[in-house]
Amino acid sequence: MNIVVLDGYGLNPGDLSWERLHKIGDAKIYDRTAKEDIIERIGDAEIVLTNKTPINAEIMDKTKIKYIGVLATGYNVVDVEAAKERGIIVTNVPAYSTASVAQMVFAHVLEICNHVAHHDRTVKEGKWEKCPDFCYWERHLIELDGKVMGIIGYGRIGQAVAKVAQAFGMKVIAYSPRKRKELENENMRYVELDELFSQSDIISLHAPLFESTRNIINKESISKMKKSVIIINTSRGPLVNEQDLADALNSGRIYAAGVDVVSEEPIKANNPLLKAKNIFITPHIAWAPKEARVRLMNIAMENIEAYLAGRPINVVNK
Ligand code: NAD
Repeated sequence: MNIVVLDGYGLNPGDLSWERLHKIGDAKIYDRTAKEDIIERIGDAEIVLTNKTPINAEIMDKTKIKYIGVLATGYNVVDVEAAKERGIIVTNVPAYSTASVAQMVFAHVLEICNHVAHHDRTVKEGKWEKCPDFCYWERHLIELDGKVMGIIGYGRIGQAVAKVAQAFGMKVIAYSPRKRKELENENMRYVELDELFSQSDIISLHAPLFESTRNIINKESISKMKKSVIIINTSRGPLVNEQDLADALNSGRIYAAGVDVVSEEPIKANNPLLKAKNIFITPHIAWAPKEARVRLMNIAMENIEAYLAGRPINVVNK
């Protein structure tokens, strides 16, 4: 059984092991693969693993792929409909990074609300020593207790974010097309999008990238938000119209943003968010603590083993 990993470096930059994959079959592991090399590298492999290397219909037609294992939760890098038409099974790795991503949401929220990095830097530059008072603060400080957290996409990560938000004393409102009434309580209720936009103090995005969620944050939705709103995106970059978000930050129409994902990754030098005011950007690392990557590796291997045993699991294109 020939197996190809197109871009294994993200998952395993050297601190994990591919041993289990080598036991499953004859595995070639590439750190990364340029678009023009994808077909040649796949060769006659039936099992292909990808993290962010795109696999489209043309690649499917020019190779003998039978199984595509996405080494991530979001599987928008694969044309899943084309795979379905061709009988190719596509799997993802759900849930491995739920806690890590929820934690990253609050890393951004707390940076924006408490400005730890800025104050640490200015203290070390000598500002506190010269201060006439016992303390100083140079940025707007915000208490979360009592504020409203609006969550778009109330799946695994959305619910984990809600739990942390509630621990901070926040009220949660959520939008999801599928509403599970049993998840509602005195601190959490489902609302329609317009209410979420207008009522939230923080909006956190946790919907997958679909055509229905692309640009869900745009000029029009921003026009419905509070001026003090903070927008956090740890889901997928294209959920946000980046020019509209940058314009809103620069004009003070909204207060701040934190993003772990952008429309094109790695980020392009001309991405308008790079020069926008009051935005914090991390390079798509919410998923990357080692604890989460170990889980990802194990589930990805279980997915292949289950497929080979004729009982595929975590299939996203049934
Ligand atoms: P999930 O499938 O458990 O939840 C997604 C939720 O979105 C579901 O409840 C679904 O009903 C809802 N949804 C579907 N269409 C929607 C729409 N049009 N509007 C609003 N909600 C909609 O997935 P999850 O584990 O919570 O992950 C969510 C996303 O987070 C993934 O798709 C992925 O893109 C992203 N992610 C990012 C990182 C990172 O490192 N930054 C890591 C893991 C996952």
